[in-house]
Amino acid sequence: MGNMIADYEQFDNVLSILAQCTDDYLFIYDLKEDHYKITKRAVDVFKFDEADFYNASEVLHECVYIEDRLMFKTSIEMLKSGETDKHDLEYRWIDKSDNPIWISCRGKIIYDNDRNVHYLVGRIAELGRKNKIDNITGLYREVVLRNDIVNMRRDMVYSGFLLLIGIDNFKDINEHYGKERGNKILHSLAGCIRKCIKSTAKIYRMSGDEIMIFYDDINTTFNEPAKELYKKIRSAVDDMIRENAYELFYTISAGAAYFTENDAGDLNLLDQAEFALRLAKVRGKNMYVKYLQKDYVDYVIKLDMQEHLRKAVENDFEGFELYYQPIVNIEEKSILGAEALLRWRIAGDIVSPGDFIPLLEESGLIIPVGKWVIETAMKQCIKWQKVCPDFRVSINLSFVQIKKSDVLHDIDSCIERLGFQSRNVLFEITESGELEVGFMTKNVLEAFHRRSLNLAIDDFGTGYSNLRYIKDMMFNLVKIDQAFIRGIRDSKYDYMVVKQFTELAHSLNLKVCYEGVETEEDFNCVRELKPDYIQGYYFARPVSSTEFEENYLGKSNLFI
Ligand code: C2E
Ligand code: MG
Ligand code: MG
Repeated sequence: MGNMIADYEQFDNVLSILAQCTDDYLFIYDLKEDHYKITKRAVDVFKFDEADFYNASEVLHECVYIEDRLMFKTSIEMLKSGETDKHDLEYRWIDKSDNPIWISCRGKIIYDNDRNVHYLVGRIAELGRKNKIDNITGLYREVVLRNDIVNMRRDMVYSGFLLLIGIDNFKDINEHYGKERGNKILHSLAGCIRKCIKSTAKIYRMSGDEIMIFYDDINTTFNEPAKELYKKIRSAVDDMIRENAYELFYTISAGAAYFTENDAGDLNLLDQAEFALRLAKVRGKNMYVKYLQKDYVDYVIKLDMQEHLRKAVENDFEGFELYYQPIVNIEEKSILGAEALLRWRIAGDIVSPGDFIPLLEESGLIIPVGKWVIETAMKQCIKWQKVCPDFRVSINLSFVQIKKSDVLHDIDSCIERLGFQSRNVLFEITESGELEVGFMTKNVLEAFHRRSLNLAIDDFGTGYSNLRYIKDMMFNLVKIDQAFIRGIRDSKYDYMVVKQFTELAHSLNLKVCYEGVETEEDFNCVRELKPDYIQGYYFARPVSSTEFEENYLGKSNLFI
């Protein structure tokens, strides 16, 4: 059975030292003498006057919450009678302001030399407080924040903000380096934040990698104090990372929501901060975003539009249509073919591709829509080849199609099914950061090359991997971006860039097309530079297939 205790005094000393090492309260209850000793701190919280008292059963009876007294008494009697030697009970004590506090009390009986029940020794933990604190960061949990916000509303506090900090790419960190490293980072971030805030602000651990800071009054000269705080925390994090010789490297983003008197808006404060943080991540991470109603409205509109797009796709691509813009062969003074440009009509209005293509890309809908574009444009081209046997169609491909779908398979099967001549199609790919010449992209581009499918770099000059693309020689055509052509008449620099690039491309046996030639002046200026092709409003705007047939198909010497 239980242990013996030789020297009560010595034991008492050890206990008082241990009491300093924990948030729990430690106690010794001498059941024979009805004498009770507990960690001194307990006196500040609960309804005793001293931490060391006789008449314990009576004093404790007073301290236990009325409803729990019988349970408590029964348990002590079972210990005294030797029925059990362990005490493990959750019940309520009354605090100094007469509120019941849930506690967990665990103890063990110590016997005297005659094996009679003598002491109950154990610890008491405040359950209320334990549940409030997060183990990893030592910060308050989200439930506490929710209570605090309710109180703030009750007290009508309207100057303050919530700042939600998130660790960028936390999921990757956890996956690559393990959860322990993730926890270490969270802990370090909590430390940095503590150093940066004033004592009345509270910090809370939210779900995952997020930490919330709650300022319920703003007393500062900054007009955006949340942003200043974010900057301060960010530089504290940077300093810490440097001091630790980059052992743990991470960046943080933040979203802020300010309290206002009339913010009975669409979102509550927590959701506002959460939304702002999400925006910060979408906009590139390592940055701060303040919640604005307008951003939220835009977001809702975007979701709405995405939903409409999804329905349109489900409804057999309802509302989608291809327009065609002639591409003019300068030397032969003829139409080489046309670029297929996607249009979307909803409720009678035409939405511009600049507005809906990013939504298709984000949702992945560009994959089915892109397939539809390929098939529709090829069918159209076959039809027009009856009039112009060499007619060529240009089709835009999105990086999403290249990275996330088997676009080559789709193209192959379309070519086969329609009996299409593959030399009569050209695929345009916009250079972008999304499509860095990585291993996978390179494989796909090489596969185009092997199949002798024509490829063009679209909007050349706007991205940043341009020379690499050229060097890899997987393209047949370079389409110089409109921005350069627009500047060409006023800027010597733009003029020289276009000139040099055209010569470079030609020396590598690549064809060059200028986009965005709008006026006669533009045309007279650029024709000196000897591009192979020109596409622009000066010759023709993109038009429907019917209009294209009527106005442009088979007409030669129309333009020059
Ligand atoms: P892009 O491929 O560079 O297409 C050329 C864009 O320039 C077209 O805009 C065209 O209308 C416009 N343009 C042509 N000549 C002129 C001119 O002289 N002046 C001006 N200001 N603009 C001119 P659009 O049709 O609005 O298309 C915008 C972009 O949307 C396209 O740029 C392309 O990146 C994308 N896009 C269009 N259709 C598709 C598609 O089927 N699939 C994919 N993935 N993207 C497409
Ligand atoms: Mg294009
Ligand atoms: Mg372009």
